Amino acid sequence: MVDVKLNNITFGYNAEFVLNNISLTVENGEFVVVVGPNGAGKSTLLKIIAGLVEPAGGQVLIGGHRVRNAARQGIIGYVPQHYAQNTAAFPATVEEIVALGLVNSGLSLKSKGAKHIVSHMLELVGADMLKGRRIGELSGGQQQRVMVARALAGNPQLLLLDEPTSGIDYAASVKIYQLLSQLNTTLGITIVMVSHDIENATCSAAKVACINRSLCFFGSSEQFRSSHATMRHLWYYSGYTG
Ligand code: ADP
Repeated sequence: MVDVKLNNITFGYNAEFVLNNISLTVENGEFVVVVGPNGAGKSTLLKIIAGLVEPAGGQVLIGGHRVRNAARQGIIGYVPQHYAQNTAAFPATVEEIVALGLVNSGLSLKSKGAKHIVSHMLELVGADMLKGRRIGELSGGQQQRVMVARALAGNPQLLLLDEPTSGIDYAASVKIYQLLSQLNTTLGITIVMVSHDIENATCSAAKVACINRSLCFFGSSEQFRSSHATMRHLWYYSGYTG
């Protein structure tokens, strides 16, 4: 298990600031959902935690390691936005897609060891019966399960997911959130997830970080749900005024 410490994270594309002085700590084994309006900087923040974007100021520590070291050690599993939909265009099977999560493991992807891990990951996400199917033939919810299995194959201690239920129907979305809750509880894996689905996401995650270019709220899901009605003014990004 690892914690995630964000210290005064600042970032801008070109001259415009997208993230201003964001500081928060996700504790070991915690499940945090990041919410906020479109354009608020949620995906950018997740990319910074994943080590894909370098902050202009501040520092990210994952289990006490700088992000690059954490990424090199395979501590981070990242499921980008629209990943399932983009991957669905490839004529690959579910097994092959999940095996790609092992590329940095040193195992040959065709080895017995790799096949065993792939089967186990698919069992964990409840998709073992889909093993031989082409990824493009699956429903959105099934594809997203496969993407979670792929991220888990590298045995990460931190799972980052960007809008894992976008484009998925309500019932399948609820099941994805239940799966993430279960992985968080049973594997003790720390989860940071961006979601627009406040109702369902805040039921699964214990904590909420509300971002609107700055950190507007960070606390328990219960607190967020009880105060969120009075926070409507935060739901529309209307230009940086800081
Ligand atoms: P959110 O995930 O909350 O919708 P993003 O982090 O995707 O927000 O984007 C925050 C702001 O940064 C938006 O105004 C978006 O247009 C801009 N942005 C995102 N990615 C890039 C990029 N690669 N280049 C320039 N601007 C970007």
